[in-house]
Amino acid sequence: MQNLWFDPTEMLIGGVWKAPAGTLPVIDPSTGAEVAQIAAGTAADIDAAVIAARAALDGDWGRMTALERGRILTRLGQMVLERIDDLAAIEAADVGKPLTQARNDAIALARYCEFYGGAADKVHGQTIPYLDGYTVYTLREPHGVTGHIVPWNYPMQIIGRSVGAALAMGNAAVLKPAEEACLTALAFARLAADAGLPPGALNVVPGLGAQAGAALTAHPGVQHVSFTGSVATGRLVQAAAAQNVVPVTLELGGKSPQVVFADADLDAALPFLVNAGIQNAGQTCSASSRILVERPLYDALVAGMSAAYGRLHVGPAVADLQVGPLISARQKEIVTGFIDAGRDLPVLATGTLADDLPTGGHYVAPHLLACDDPGHKLAQDEIFGPVQVIIPFDTEDQAVQIANGTAYGLVAAIWSRDGGRQARMAKRLHAGQVFINNYGAGGGVELPFGGTGLSGHGREKGFEALYGFSSLKTVAQYHG
Ligand code: NAD
Repeated sequence: MQNLWFDPTEMLIGGVWKAPAGTLPVIDPSTGAEVAQIAAGTAADIDAAVIAARAALDGDWGRMTALERGRILTRLGQMVLERIDDLAAIEAADVGKPLTQARNDAIALARYCEFYGGAADKVHGQTIPYLDGYTVYTLREPHGVTGHIVPWNYPMQIIGRSVGAALAMGNAAVLKPAEEACLTALAFARLAADAGLPPGALNVVPGLGAQAGAALTAHPGVQHVSFTGSVATGRLVQAAAAQNVVPVTLELGGKSPQVVFADADLDAALPFLVNAGIQNAGQTCSASSRILVERPLYDALVAGMSAAYGRLHVGPAVADLQVGPLISARQKEIVTGFIDAGRDLPVLATGTLADDLPTGGHYVAPHLLACDDPGHKLAQDEIFGPVQVIIPFDTEDQAVQIANGTAYGLVAAIWSRDGGRQARMAKRLHAGQVFINNYGAGGGVELPFGGTGLSGHGREKGFEALYGFSSLKTVAQYHG
């Protein structure tokens, strides 16, 4: 790969770039070709990183004021902005993300650095009126060493929201990126050092989940774990952290519905209905894979979405079409398995694979399916690919029942012109975020994000993350 300002095979531990004992291949999902090698970090590397993080807390990093931490993050955001095109190109080659979408991720990473840079010195404690002779106040303190385990689908955004908030609060971070997506994590760490982040404040150890990841979540020197990934791994992470009795944030999967009532502005809704299903080839935790529509609007909505699917093209990341490849051969197998499991459902429309696709790439055409049965596997399970089902409903109560009728609860949207209905539905839907007449609200870094049910617990993004990445101390001073 060209234009790298870091050696992709190295790990960052205590401010030193170290060669690993072994490496893993980096496969370009658009072509199937190996484009680099990354470190296969071990439990010993994780141990060294945790020790380095603790040393940073006991050293320069731990002594920095909130203002100084904020300035470093703000400077880092600026440096990310200056490298947007390079970061986008690296991400496109690493995870197959179409360039425009990869660019948006880099912009979001910069935005997280700016937001948390600005917020670092604005997290205040309280004074609490108490008994005569006492002054009582609260302090927000860093947890200490924070472990960050990140998936491959939005590496830059998820690193920004979790590492950015942790550093703003004065924690020292050990980051274990996904084995399929380490390059922008390393690129970011290099920029962070150049921005003035002291050695050990951010350590990056790439490696396999079962090795480096498991070692990080079980390490007794880690005081908080932030995990974003699958439900199955989330369970392991929570169980491992429980042994050390440390807090865990779990940002897991979803089966997010958009509920479209007959009075909705369909023209306004259509781009959101489709894009929320196919963005990043559907490999998005908050993908909207279920479209619930009130029956009188059913035919018009099916016609509109089908026409939009007809305009979707799938190709390599550098072609920058609407849809890129899936991350891996395994993910393609999972998604095509779901499409097979939906053979009993009418296919309303599909996207189009570009001509002359590289044979080693992992391409799947987007599928839009009709589904009368909200209990169907495709209406219940997270697919993590470009597949959406349309489910009709007849009443508001039925819409709520279907929307809440999965084990997940990440995000949901309501499309209606009726203010009363908007408010009722927003209260009744099980989700960490509810959108009214939009979907995703542009992804705002300011907006607290997280799930209920199998979608996880804890909140990242916004100011809420700063509370999550800190611990509250109450000081009661008796002075008579
Ligand atoms: P995954 O659980 O397989 O992997 C996520 C991370 O966990 C990777 O870094 C992996 O190396 C690590 N890991 C694997 N086994 C581990 C172990 N035993 N101990 C510690 N770490 C381990 O998930 P994935 O396939 O990379 O990501 C897809 C899933 O992530 C989907 O379910 C998606 O919905 C979810 N996701 C959620 C959000 C959110 O914010 N809620 C965002 C993105 C992705």
